[in-house]
Amino acid sequence: MTKSATLDLLGPDARSFVAKEKRLYIGGAWVPAASGETFETIDPATEVAFDRVPLGAPVDVDRAVAAARSAFEEGPWASMTPGDRSKLVWRLGDLIEKHADEIAEIEAIDNGKPWAQARFGDIAFCHELFHYMAGWCTKINGETITLSSPAPFHAYTLRSPVGVCGQIVPWNFSFMMAVWKVAPALASGCTIVLKPAKQTPLTALRLAELVEEAGFPKGVFNVVTGYGDTVGTALAAHPGVDKVAFTGSTEVGRKIMAAAQGNIKKVSLELGGKSPMVVFADADLDLTIKAVASGIFYNMGQVCTAGTRLYVEDAVADEVIDGLIHEAKSLKIGPGPDRETQFGPLVSAEQFARVAGYVETGLAEGAKLATGGERVGNRGYFLAPTILTETNPEMTVVREEIFGPVLCVARFREEEAAVREANNSIYGLAGSVFTRDLSRGLRVAARLKGGTIGVNTHHVVDPALPFGGFKQSGWGREMGREAIELYTEVKSVGVAL
Ligand code: NAP
Ligand code: MG
Repeated sequence: MTKSATLDLLGPDARSFVAKEKRLYIGGAWVPAASGETFETIDPATEVAFDRVPLGAPVDVDRAVAAARSAFEEGPWASMTPGDRSKLVWRLGDLIEKHADEIAEIEAIDNGKPWAQARFGDIAFCHELFHYMAGWCTKINGETITLSSPAPFHAYTLRSPVGVCGQIVPWNFSFMMAVWKVAPALASGCTIVLKPAKQTPLTALRLAELVEEAGFPKGVFNVVTGYGDTVGTALAAHPGVDKVAFTGSTEVGRKIMAAAQGNIKKVSLELGGKSPMVVFADADLDLTIKAVASGIFYNMGQVCTAGTRLYVEDAVADEVIDGLIHEAKSLKIGPGPDRETQFGPLVSAEQFARVAGYVETGLAEGAKLATGGERVGNRGYFLAPTILTETNPEMTVVREEIFGPVLCVARFREEEAAVREANNSIYGLAGSVFTRDLSRGLRVAARLKGGTIGVNTHHVVDPALPFGGFKQSGWGREMGREAIELYTEVKSVGVAL
């Protein structure tokens, strides 16, 4: 393996994790892919392949599903009390908290994201989520139900784990997207086969080490690294999988739905977005400019809820755009593992080409470049934070998900027009409204078609708050009580008295 210069920025624990030979985690054992093959993962700040992981295949998925099945049906997991399960889930949260600096370093070198965002955003959220979900283990209840039957009956519901879950996650928040699925599944008593994205496979393997250290029974949690079109499709189509949970693009989401038909497995989908931010002239502009800049530039815009379309009231548009240009230019650009970095590279050459291509298309279709648009440096996939103004609803950059640091700005004069344009999308994941008028803020929040809406803030996530999409942004809600509902089945029991 070539040595990436950014490896020197990692602490000793992350460096020794990277140096270790990687294996799949199946049935509580660390095993190579059946084929013995591996593939490389790249540091997007230096374009250097710095580690290799097993290239899993459908035969490895078969092994992992079999392990998850027997852990679900027969093992100590199946008969464990909710209280004991809660202690394990809590302990896993503790271990993530203990190793948070190191996990953030691994994520930062593998994905390119700024270490500080990984540490205090992604990883901090993950240990909170495990701790939050640990509380649910002992509170998964049915209800007693009143029947209309003339005969005397006692009826009640039971809630039981859905079974073996295939979980397929993307690269943008690789550890966090995995944990969003793993935490409620474990809390519910399910077993798991996880497939991380090929660009960022490392933190899922670190998570498996922590699952083992926490003391989960063998086979409860399994990881198969590999490609979507082999490992992913095998998992989504597998007759031994009861539920598939997917986060990724809407395009692949459709394939997951199709693959899941074979055994009518349960499906939950967190898909793409094209979220609007609506700024009224009466907003606190200092606060708004900072929130809008973070709404689009956080994680280099590789965020499903990224605020990619800004609708700003004409009277303050120039001031807001000037403020955003200033924010864009003041971000400190550098490699993810550098603790001072505020804005890192995009995840891959492919993603760089895709985002740069959108910027070109936007300009060709008549948008104006207010800042950015160019590559930064000559090594690594760095694209400057970019703002396009004078955009209109017909433009490709306004309609399609870019998944990069590109803000599309349009002006409005009337609230009605702003709401109409904000909702003019096939997606409905998130949105935000900025105003000092509380009534207007709540009114617009109620009218925006999205699963998560911010008032005077953009990204709103919390372990207790349901998260998911309207329209083509997905099916189901993660986090909160809704996440437990995603991983459990309801059974009705009637007793003739
Ligand atoms: P992607 O191409 O859809 O990939 C997501 C995952 O699915 C990866 O692990 C991928 O494997 C796998 N996959 C690919 N093809 C598959 C198939 N035919 N069957 C089963 N699995 C398959 O998405 P991405 O480029 O990684 O991530 C960007 C997208 O994710 C954006 O559209 C973004 O909006 C969305 N996203 C949504 C949310 C949300 O919560 N709504 C959160 C984050 C990201 P590989 O390893 O081969 O890539
Ligand atoms: Mg990588």
